[in-house]
This record gives sequence, structure tokens and C-alpha cells, in this order.
Amino acid sequence: MLGRAIVSGALLLGSGCDRVAVNNSAGEVGLFVDGQGAQSPINDLRLSQDEVGIVSFRVGNYTAASTPNRNEVIGFGEARAPTRDRTTWTPGDDSFNFGLEAPVAIDLTIWVVQGPVNVAQFRINDGLVNADATWAEERAGLEIGDVDIIDMTGGAAPPNAVLNFAGNDWAFLESEVGLADGRLNVYWIQTVDGNPARGRSNFDDKIVMGFEGVGHLLAHEIGHALSLLHPEDGGLGSQMPSTNVMAGSSTSRSYLTEGQTFRAHFDPESAVNAVLEARPGQPVEDCHPYDGSPPCPDLQRRIWADGAASPPN
Ligand SMILES: [Zn+2]
Repeated sequence: MLGRAIVSGALLLGSGCDRVAVNNSAGEVGLFVDGQGAQSPINDLRLSQDEVGIVSFRVGNYTAASTPNRNEVIGFGEARAPTRDRTTWTPGDDSFNFGLEAPVAIDLTIWVVQGPVNVAQFRINDGLVNADATWAEERAGLEIGDVDIIDMTGGAAPPNAVLNFAGNDWAFLESEVGLADGRLNVYWIQTVDGNPARGRSNFDDKIVMGFEGVGHLLAHEIGHALSLLHPEDGGLGSQMPSTNVMAGSSTSRSYLTEGQTFRAHFDPESAVNAVLEARPGQPVEDCHPYDGSPPCPDLQRRIWADGAASPPN
């Protein structure tokens, strides 16, 4: 009854009275809201709070938007995976509540093809710790899951085409080294395209890492496996900082936009869906890699700042 009284008060003040509650916030929590506004369809209205538990948002006043526009909220949050909920807005006071799903565990099999194994292990750990910390910090709804590290350095020396990967013969890599189904496979080799500090992904279940791949490179290559492209290749270099995880060339990668997090979870080609099949029940969306659409936020959309120069947008 108390909640009803507050809603009525909002109506008297002339502000919108539709509400959406996230019922399991772990702290920072944000929404993109879609619906029909008074004048025009609203697409990805941004709201955020920082509160644990049931967090209620006063989202505005919506009626049902017509196709292709959407009646939907996308929730993002600390220690949660982005989650979508249909909101069938009516002319009256609407109230919806939903829970954000648990983070997706990224299961990895890492094939150490090039030794020394202890050095490879050190760099692998660095990459895993970096990816896990970046995802947590960026509310990406991802975490490092089960990790198998397989030492392949004991047998006969692998062919040069495996140790020094160039071109696109991923099938040869699989036949020579191995593949674990339903997981991301990372091959720790000597060089990628002639460079020991480089990595590459086949945008599916395989990643090659040069022996000297630094900590933030693994999260970048996993980002490709999750369908993400370099922002600058889509003309977004000025809108997304060079410290973004997916910047093509960077000495420091630590940020992900909510547009990127959305695609990582909901693009049908993302390994989250195509390899790990980790989001049953959540609909996939074939988003443009950069541009927004009624279901997909623009790639550069941020609920939270990515450094001082890149505020919410
Ligand atoms: Zn890249």
C-alpha cells in the first residue's frame, strides 16, 4: 500500500509513474529502457543506481510502442549478467520487476604448445586474472570458469605452422594439437603473424596467443570470440577510449561499454551462445557490430564512465 501511495504522489507531481524494479542488485545497477513516450518511441533511456537488494527505478511514463520499436528493459549490474525483460506498457501506472541472471562462466582449455611451461603458466595466470578482474570491474556479467591447462611440450616438436601461426588454418591447429568441445580453446604458441606479443581469435572456439602475450591481451582475444570487433574499425575510435578492451592496439586495456557487454551476451555468434550455450531462455539478437537498432544499443553506449574522458552517454 505504501508503494501505491508513492506512485500516486508522482502522478500528482506530473512526473512519470511507471516503475521497474531489479530484485537482486549486488550494488551498481543500471537499465536501458524502451517504450512509447508521449511524443515518440524511446530507445535505451539510461538509468542507474548504486544500492543492494530490491532497487526500484521510476522510468518515465510509457505506452506500448509499435514494431519495430520495443517494449523492454535491459538490466546490467555489478556481479550480474545483463538480462532482458519484456515490459508491456499500458496507459496506466505500470510496475514490473525482474532479477538479473548470474555471471556466465567462461570455460577454457589452454594448450601449452611452446615452453618453458613455467613461463607460459605465469603468463596464462596473468591473462586469466586480468580478464576476470576487468569483467568484474566493468559489470560484464562474465567470469573465468573451469580452466584446464594441458602441457603439450613433452612430445615431438609441433610443425612450424602450429608454433608460428599465420593465415587461417585453424583446422590444422585443431588436428595437430587438439580441441575441447563446448569450451574456448587457447593455444599458447611462439608467434602469431610473426609477432610473439600478438594473439588472434577465429571468432568461435579457438584463440592463438604468442608466447609473450601480455595480461590484457587474453581478455581482448576472448572479446573477439564473444563477437566483438575493434571500435576504431567502425569509426568509433574517438568515442571509445584506447583503453577499451577491444582497442586494436593498446598498452592498457581495461574498459567495456554496455553496448559491448550486450553483444557479448546476446549476439548469436558470440561464444557465450554459439560455443558455451550459456544463456538459455534469453533471446539472441543479430546486432550490427557498431550501430544500434531497436533491440540493440549502439556499441559505444555506456551506463557508467570508462575513465574521466568517457562519461555515460
Ligand atoms: Zn583484436
